Amino acid sequence: MSTDHPPVRRDAVIRKSARDWRVTPHLLDWAATRASFSWQQVRDELLGRDAGDVNIARLAVDRHAAGPRARHTALRLLSADGGVRDVSYADLRSLTDRFANALSSLGVTRGDRVFVLSARTEALYVSVLGALKQGCVVTPLFSAFGPEPIATRMAIAGARVLVTTAALYRRKVAGLRDRLPTLEHVIVVGDDGSGGDRPAGTHDYAALMAAASDAPPAARSGADDMALLHFTSGTTGTPKGAVHVHQAVLTHFATGRYALDLHPDDIYWCTADPGWVTGTSYGIVAPLLHGVTSLVDEGEFDAERWYRTLQDQRVTVWYTAPTAIRMLMKAGPEAAHRYRFPDLRFIASVGEPLNPEAVWWSQEVLGLAIHDNWWQTETGGIMIANTPAQDIKPGSMGRPLPGVEALIVRRDEAGALQVVEQPDVDGELALRTGWPSMFRGYLGQDERYRKCFAGDLYLSGDLARRDADGYFWFVGRADDVIKSAGHLIGPFEVESVLMEHAAVAEAGVIGKPDPVVGETVKAFVLLKSGIAPSEALRLELLGHARKRLGAAVAPKEIAFADSLPHTRSGKVMRRLLKARELGLPEGDTSTLETH
Ligand code: ATP
Ligand code: MG
Repeated sequence: MSTDHPPVRRDAVIRKSARDWRVTPHLLDWAATRASFSWQQVRDELLGRDAGDVNIARLAVDRHAAGPRARHTALRLLSADGGVRDVSYADLRSLTDRFANALSSLGVTRGDRVFVLSARTEALYVSVLGALKQGCVVTPLFSAFGPEPIATRMAIAGARVLVTTAALYRRKVAGLRDRLPTLEHVIVVGDDGSGGDRPAGTHDYAALMAAASDAPPAARSGADDMALLHFTSGTTGTPKGAVHVHQAVLTHFATGRYALDLHPDDIYWCTADPGWVTGTSYGIVAPLLHGVTSLVDEGEFDAERWYRTLQDQRVTVWYTAPTAIRMLMKAGPEAAHRYRFPDLRFIASVGEPLNPEAVWWSQEVLGLAIHDNWWQTETGGIMIANTPAQDIKPGSMGRPLPGVEALIVRRDEAGALQVVEQPDVDGELALRTGWPSMFRGYLGQDERYRKCFAGDLYLSGDLARRDADGYFWFVGRADDVIKSAGHLIGPFEVESVLMEHAAVAEAGVIGKPDPVVGETVKAFVLLKSGIAPSEALRLELLGHARKRLGAAVAPKEIAFADSLPHTRSGKVMRRLLKARELGLPEGDTSTLETH
């Protein structure tokens, strides 16, 4: 085993130059584009004169189905067993029109709540988009959820329709149906595609689709009509239901251009499941708005499969998450080196802090840096990002996109909120309200929603700092930040330093109450495969952290763990590490990954 420390490159910057570009990036001059940007221009460009009727699905699908891209592949579906199925924009229009008309035939109308619980199959995409066309409010649910989280979410939303498969229905919903008095229609997609073997009291998806017309549905929707209801990841507590409206589409469009740099010939792959907001905003809406081919992989994470998919499908733009990147890093560079990615030109990541080590790893192993970006279920779209033409400072989330004003705020001694003008000061990350995809409520929690705002500022609950060049650095979630002997310590900084060590695959850092200093820092460390825990390694890690962070910030304790608790979307649940450490109740564990 090698315990050599990799060279420390924390201050290094990845410089971008025109030589590196295969296509000219949309966002060339960050400052000038921000200065001339207005949401009204985006509205004019996307909606034209039809601004009275705004519908995410019609804009995403029908605009291209009616134009020269009608035969272009909109969705390329990879089944778990290796099958490939292409759906063109024209086909997707007629499928989604049919589904909207099928809902209409059941009396399902504007504002009705439609839940979709399915693996990433064609029916999932068709029913989400079709229900949006019908003016319904759509919630895609992660299909690995157990019965309880499914029932709770459907009850909170007052679901009227559920689209699912026979197997999922039997296993997860049938037994709870009496707890769901608003649930009138269950539409079942036959597991074998034939629609046979359908549970009692349900409709057959295939039969409904066959009977429905593929004429454009009559339903209309307004810019401020509710469109999507997404539950947060539950990293810090019980998931909240964030309400989004149809005009969020303006953010999806602008960020697809500036943050993901989508160009018409792209083969784009977003690895997130539509059960999380990333998998809808950027796994369904943004790529279709830009008329690209969007890859949908029904299979689960597997390093070989993912590398093979990137290579064989000739992916050009890839949007993924730190948890997946950590797993690829864990699989070792040899796995990556068995494949070639000559078409890949842009990689982005979201969801958790992206450790600088991951950016350097990607630069070395994949030949391209990963571009971290920041947003939340509540913001509906990417707000702060590293973009193709701008230099990357590994460990930073990048800079606010055009149309986004991000600030650092702090409370003064009197408790009043102050905007921090000077750089390099930690504070809460806030956004000036007014971007189109801002959430419009937490379903059933008005007071909590109101508390997120102060005047025209939205307070994100995340702590960050902005440097003199305007780059934002994630410090931690307000709930996770550790207060020790007068210092505010962000777990991310400590975890990143531990991950610099060659033996460490992942780290989770918490504060433990301490009568003298307030809290002490404890780290849970997961070692790379093949590396055994030992007292010598523990001391070495403590020494490394102390050297890099100083005694005040370095962990006092390090424990080796066999695994760290994650949400199903892959985020480290520090609140569970803490509850377990302190013997406290675990709270809501509905999103905890259980295998
Ligand atoms: P809950 O609100 O239920 O606790 P959650 O905040 O994890 O869950 P999401 O809305 O899915 O739910 O995640 C948004 C949060 O994820 C952000 O507030 C931030 O804490 C974290 N996050 C997202 N992207 C980044 C990033 N690039 N760097 C650091 N943190 C990020
Ligand atoms: Mg949150």
